[in-house]
Amino acid sequence: MSGLSGLRAVVTGGASGIGLATARKLAGRGASVAVLDLDPSGVPRPLLALEADVSDDPSVRAAVDEAAERLGGLDILVNNAGIGAQGTVEDNPDEQWHRVLDVNVLGMVRTTRAALPYLRRSSHAAVVNTCSIAATAGLPQRALYSASKGAVLSLTLAMAADHVREGVRVNCVNPGTADTPWVARLLDAANDPEAERAALNARQPMGRLVSAAEVAAAIVYLASPAAASVTGTALAVDGGMQGLRLRPAAHS
Ligand code: NAD
Repeated sequence: MSGLSGLRAVVTGGASGIGLATARKLAGRGASVAVLDLDPSGVPRPLLALEADVSDDPSVRAAVDEAAERLGGLDILVNNAGIGAQGTVEDNPDEQWHRVLDVNVLGMVRTTRAALPYLRRSSHAAVVNTCSIAATAGLPQRALYSASKGAVLSLTLAMAADHVREGVRVNCVNPGTADTPWVARLLDAANDPEAERAALNARQPMGRLVSAAEVAAAIVYLASPAAASVTGTALAVDGGMQGLRLRPAAHS
């Protein structure tokens, strides 16, 4: 994979999990990286830590402008901040629907809107959205979360079409269940965390969770000049969960 020296990147939700792994990898390849997060206090150097709430437009605009000013422009935007929700279509109150769609979908709209004037000036402009297996497979107890990620998938394609002639590529990654602090919180809250982890492992044909570093590697590829001809794609990093249909192990 080509180096990223000279490129300037913003990663939302970059203080934890997939976002932090991505920010570290981008910096490791030579990019200058700003992390936008609700709580960026633990973000390690040399990452530039900026506090921002993707559900608040003035906060996003101020942080993106500051990132562009301090990094000297922007080439890469990773729209990764997101929150979860559990339940069927009967379970979540309207306020929660508005909140999750506000963060997971409009959060990407706000950050991209603020970043586009800078991205248009780059000769290696790329946006990568963190989508999910939930956009392409029906998962139980994830009605609201899945609706938000389905919207992210469609938004990715529409943005790719709108900005291709401006030289801005737009792609997304679709992780399967990834071993991040988010999933650790879900496991901690389960009645039987070990059984829950075993069930999540078993749902993926590889028999294990995806790592944050594996998702980050896919994001960094899509963000890099190595992917110069790639736009409007969804790259699954899901241990085979979307594409494979295995027979039970005993019958294979
Ligand atoms: P995480 O909870 O470890 O990290 C998410 C980060 O986003 C946190 O640092 C949090 O502070 C930040 N954040 C949340 N709301 C924000 C807001 N309003 N403004 C700014 N920052 C905010 O989660 P993760 O597992 O690394 O998930 C990252 C992305 O990956 C999410 O979009 C999630 O939907 C997606 N994803 C995760 C999995 C998984 O299994 N972990 C699978 C598929 C997709």
